Formats: sequence, structure tokens, C-alpha cells
Amino acid sequence: MTVIRGATTIAEDSPEEIKKAVKELIDQTVSRNSLHKDEILSIVFSSTSDIHSYYPAKAAREAGYSSSPLFSSQEPDIDGGLPLCIRIMLFVEKNITPHHVYLRGARTLRKDIASKINIAIDGPAGSGKSTMAKALAKSMNILYLDTGAMYRACALKALKENADIRDETAIIDCLRDLALEIKYEDGTQHTFLDGEDVSELIRKPEVSMAASTVSQYPAVRLKMVEKQREIADKMSCVLDGRDIGTFVLPEADFKFFLTADPKVRAQRRYDELTAKGYPVDKRALEEEIVKRDEQDSSRAFAPLKQAEDAVLIDTSNLTPDEVLGEMKRTIQEKI
Ligand code: C5P
Repeated sequence: MTVIRGATTIAEDSPEEIKKAVKELIDQTVSRNSLHKDEILSIVFSSTSDIHSYYPAKAAREAGYSSSPLFSSQEPDIDGGLPLCIRIMLFVEKNITPHHVYLRGARTLRKDIASKINIAIDGPAGSGKSTMAKALAKSMNILYLDTGAMYRACALKALKENADIRDETAIIDCLRDLALEIKYEDGTQHTFLDGEDVSELIRKPEVSMAASTVSQYPAVRLKMVEKQREIADKMSCVLDGRDIGTFVLPEADFKFFLTADPKVRAQRRYDELTAKGYPVDKRALEEEIVKRDEQDSSRAFAPLKQAEDAVLIDTSNLTPDEVLGEMKRTIQEKI
């Protein structure tokens, strides 16, 4: 007897999604292991606790796998586990070397057989990059790297040391001994500058504009890009920034370019900053966003630009859930 394992994910908890995903998973498991339906002794299913709308075993029966005993169970919640996931254990009569089948992002469950996935999300300020990058990384159980935080930390250092932001040589000098560390606590990125956690400080509006200015300097960018590539090289992650798909990781497996109307983007930043208690002038914020876009798009070295192979999503009138759904569909189609 041989036991073959497999897993898949669904985009949402609906009977249609479950039926489609279960059929695809069993069909692929059967075909990759060159099986006949009547060689299946039994199939055991388990699904994560966010799946309620249909029994995977029923879906399998309807897909034509009705001649062997089928059994479905629900898994307990596991912290950081892959959501909306259905697993199978398929028992077959003959002795074969099993080909386990992991579809639609479920590959990340098997670090041993999964290849690394790098996802690039670029776009202007307030387009929803960080919200979506965080949500996507969480849903795929992979790391999120906020590259903007790195440029913000460089800017903060320059501001703290009263270096002239407009003077490239002064900035390079100031950042010569930069001690910048990215650490993850409970899955959240923390940015440390000279040993201090500056994750909150770097969000101040004056740091945003300074970050846009210091990030123009090639020496600063190359220093940050080296760190970003090092992280992306080692593990599956979602990176958000301005030049991820075009310069940092031109070979990324998936690329998205998010955009939104400048007024919508300014409103989002306004809501974000006022929620944190920062006093902000909405008009000034709008102007800053437009100026930052201009500066980021027109710089000579690795400017903000949509990669030719990036999927463009205008998030102006979409909810985060809708954007996430679109991204996951794009990924699942190819994976
Ligand atoms: O994304 P965020 O607003 O945190 O980025 C702050 C600034 O850092 C941007 O305006 C941009 O100038 C710079 N940046 C960059 N390349 C990246 C990420 C951010 O030039 N990959």
C-alpha cells in the first residue's frame, strides 16, 4: 500500500470553490501517480476551520470518486497556519514511489519540496502596497519585507545627525557606518537603527519626504538593495517598494504594480497618520504625495516604474479584500 499526500487552497469559503479545488487536487494526484480510480482504497480529507460551506468528501464523491470510503475532518487552528486549506491523504493499493501534490499556494506547507517564491509589489505612496503585501504574505504564510522602511531609516539617521539631505556626499558619509537591522517579532517587521527600534518614528511625514530624497542616491540604493536581495535569496517573501520588480528582483515569480488616484492615496495616508495621533494638514499631505511621486519616478537610478511583466491593479475603488482576491487569483492560476 502507498499513502500519497496533497493539499490545496481556496480563494473563498464557497461550495463552488471547494468543489473545484477538491476535484482538481484529486484529479492531479491520480494523474501524477498514474493511478486508476479503482486503485484508490480510501481518501481522508482535512480542512482548516475557516472552511464551513461544503464537505470536501462530498465534493470528491460528486467529482466521481465515489467507489472508496471517504472521510472529512476539521483541523484545529494553528498559529500562522495557511488559511482556507484542504489536505488529503490518499491510500492506494499498489506500492509506488508517491508524488505528493501541492496546489494553489499550498506548496508553502512543504518547505522540503517547495521552491522559494518571491513576490514584488511596487507602486506610489498610498497605493495600498504595504496593506496588500502584509495581507498576501500572511495568507501565504511567507515573510513580508517593507523596503520603504529601510530608506526611511536612512533618512531618519540623516535627520538625527543634521546631515544636509540634498548633499549626496554628506549623506553617503553619514550612512557609512549605518547599523540597520530588520527583525521580525510575532511576524511583524521591526526596523532597528543603531540598536533602537525606530519602526514608529520612521512613519513621520518629514521622514517620508527625506526618504524620497536620500533614496535617489545610487550608493544609498545599492546598499539597501544588497540587503533586500540577501533576504529574498534565502526565503519566500513579499517585498514592497518602488523598484522591486524592475531592479531588485527582476526575476521575481510574481509582480504587481498598484496605483490609485492621488486624492484617494492622500486620504489613506491622512487616515493612517491621524489614527496614530500625528497632526496633519490634508492639503500639505496631498502636495507631499504628488511631489514624492514626481521625485521617485524621475530619479535617474532605479526609478518608480511598472515592470513590463507586472500585473497592474488600480486600487482606488477596491477594498483590501478585493485586491487580495485579485492577487491570489493571479498567483493561483500560475502556481
Ligand atoms: O513606501 P514608503 O512610502 O515607505 O517609502 C518611502 C520612500 O522610500 C519612497 O518615497 C521612496 O522614495 C523610497 N523607496 C524607494 N525604493 C523602495 C522603497 C522605498 O526608493 N524600494
